[in-house]
Amino acid sequence: MAGKDRSDKCSFCGREKREVNLLIAGIDGHICDRCAEQAHSIIQEEIKKDSSFDLDGAKLLKPKEIKEFLDQYVIGQDQAKKILSVSVYNHYKRLTQPFDDDETEIEKSNIILVGETGTGKTLLARTIAKMLHVPFTIVDATVLTEAGYVGEDIESLLTRLLQAADYNVEAAERGIVFVDEIDKIARKSDNPSITRDVSGEGVQQGLLKLLEGSIVNVPPQGGRKHPEQKLIPVDTKNILFICGGAFDGIERKIANRLNTKVIGYSAAKETQRIERENLLQYIAPQDLKSFGLIPEIIGRLPVLVHLDPLDEDALRRILTEPKNSVIKQYKKLFQIDDIKLDFDEEALQYIVEKAVEFKLGARGLRSICESIMNDAMFDSPSEKIEELKITREYAEEKLVRSSIQRLKAG
Ligand code: ADP
Repeated sequence: MAGKDRSDKCSFCGREKREVNLLIAGIDGHICDRCAEQAHSIIQEEIKKDSSFDLDGAKLLKPKEIKEFLDQYVIGQDQAKKILSVSVYNHYKRLTQPFDDDETEIEKSNIILVGETGTGKTLLARTIAKMLHVPFTIVDATVLTEAGYVGEDIESLLTRLLQAADYNVEAAERGIVFVDEIDKIARKSDNPSITRDVSGEGVQQGLLKLLEGSIVNVPPQGGRKHPEQKLIPVDTKNILFICGGAFDGIERKIANRLNTKVIGYSAAKETQRIERENLLQYIAPQDLKSFGLIPEIIGRLPVLVHLDPLDEDALRRILTEPKNSVIKQYKKLFQIDDIKLDFDEEALQYIVEKAVEFKLGARGLRSICESIMNDAMFDSPSEKIEELKITREYAEEKLVRSSIQRLKAG
């Protein structure tokens, strides 16, 4: 009796033959179509997990190839892309280099990206991680505070990285952490002892420990709500830290430094050559110090990269050129409904003008497009149209009516 029961049922889920589409027989059991499919996806998932952080299998890309990869996603920012390509290449080399006591040890070069908001700092870091086969996480420095204060402990940076690595400690120890808004933990005043600076210098000291490379005990669940959790030791020696910040107002510090430097009889000639529009390109480590970063932190972020502000031309290219540009995404969305979507050149120009006018940078392109496209996305799937062309007039009409106009006031 028992034997017969087994032969009619899936040995995994117990469903009977009549309840499934297909029952495959084995030597001493059966598997149904559903369980076979589930087993297949479990295998795929496991294979992905094992190989996604596998450095040996990954090809060591040359700096030029890395830049070409970045070019597909990030418009402009050539200087930044070049410097980053070299840093990433060197980081890769360190990781794949067998450790040898006698040889010169290549030190890691953490990176600091300085540029206005929405110019591509996070995008650059994200794109690099996509290519690198290492765990990657983005953390916001503004939530960090010194241990014991409201907010998150510094160690939480590594909790996120561990999570991104599926708790594979070895993989996390070669990962990349992008610390956003590093400028927000700058010292508020030039006098370090004036008041207790909970979110400033103390946090910088904490961060320094991670940047320097040390073994840090990380709470796997993060936060302070689980005091019972077992801490996981993580070595930060090989973790690449990329810090980013807008450093609002740092141009003044740069200008001051440049002015004092060029005092002298050739001063007039020198200042003429300085491009006042984009002072960030002259940024130097001492400007970060004047802004309120402690010298030890600056020393641990030896690769200083600036990002250029995005002009109309760059914004126009961002709309259509990157591999997953906003416009390409809309076209694809409509294509799924068999609708051919097109934008007039004037419509694209209008979107760019508005992004500049609202001072939203590249970040604004998507929200402006959303406002323009919303009605069409609502109506078109039920209408029998094959083609949709967005003209400047259409874009203007939709945007004027939408709530995004309110942004203008802000
Ligand atoms: P931030 O410099 O503030 O980190 P982000 O990298 O988050 O800015 O940029 C916001 C969005 O704007 C990105 O998701 C991307 O779509 C777009 N963007 C910004 N800069 C560029 C660029 N140089 N090339 C392509 N897209 C960009």
